[in-house]
Amino acid sequence: MTTISQALGEARHRLQATSPSPAVDASILLCHVLGCSPSHLIAWPDNQLSPHQAMQFEEILQQRVDGKPVAYITGEREFWSLSLKVTSDVLIPRPETETLVEFVLEKFSSSPALTVADLGTGSGAIACALAAERPAWNIIATDSSTEALDIARHNASLHKLENIRFVHGQWLEPLTGLDLDLIISNPPYIAFDDPHLVQGDVRFEPEAALASGKQGMDAITHLARQAGQHLKAGGWLIVEHGYDQQQLVYDCFQQAGFENIVQLTDLAGQPRVTAGQHGKSGYAR
Ligand code: GLN
Repeated sequence: MTTISQALGEARHRLQATSPSPAVDASILLCHVLGCSPSHLIAWPDNQLSPHQAMQFEEILQQRVDGKPVAYITGEREFWSLSLKVTSDVLIPRPETETLVEFVLEKFSSSPALTVADLGTGSGAIACALAAERPAWNIIATDSSTEALDIARHNASLHKLENIRFVHGQWLEPLTGLDLDLIISNPPYIAFDDPHLVQGDVRFEPEAALASGKQGMDAITHLARQAGQHLKAGGWLIVEHGYDQQQLVYDCFQQAGFENIVQLTDLAGQPRVTAGQHGKSGYAR
């Protein structure tokens, strides 16, 4: 028979070689099997696992030892205090994307009923966070992957968010005819030959959600060039990007005619978000 503390100790040891966070991983995986909270593991270290639980734990521990991301094993990840379903069809929501959400909520806090698009929504993390915080906004979430849209839809209904419409299509293409206040995206922005793509958790994630051309700028450039056609005068384009793309994104927004460009760093102090205003006059806010 194995106790909680023995199971955790052995798991930590086995994860040391392949995971950057062996203790946290071991705890999350054991909680997943036992259906308990991390504090339960601390309170009851001598409780025994049933043979079935021990077998299940061994199975998912081995998946993690083989490199599979914890979120894909448990099928969920927390984003903006919402527990979201994730599968290998979508990018695992990251804390740096909360910088983008926070910026949007602060900048447009007093605005009533805005029409907002989240392009390449993936798990729906950005759309769901905004919908939960701003129930009066009309949010349109798009993705070119129908599998991703199914997950995003599931997450919206899980949290009873009724102000998001999901539309299938590539970037701005499904938005024809709409006049938007905000276009938001966490697009793919990694250079296609970046060594990170074949390392760690990232190698299990959908490449289409990560890589975008030689400099990682293809999707962002496309969005900057096209967004104006779908934004109201004075509307905003807001994108997440790589820590080393600050200048490239600034130049790209400027060339596309955006004004009042703002750039932000994430909680780790890395440049991460750029916002620009579509420069037609006559838009009072
Ligand atoms: N920030 C992510 C990473 O570095 C990339 C996310 C993205 O391409 N949108 O892994």
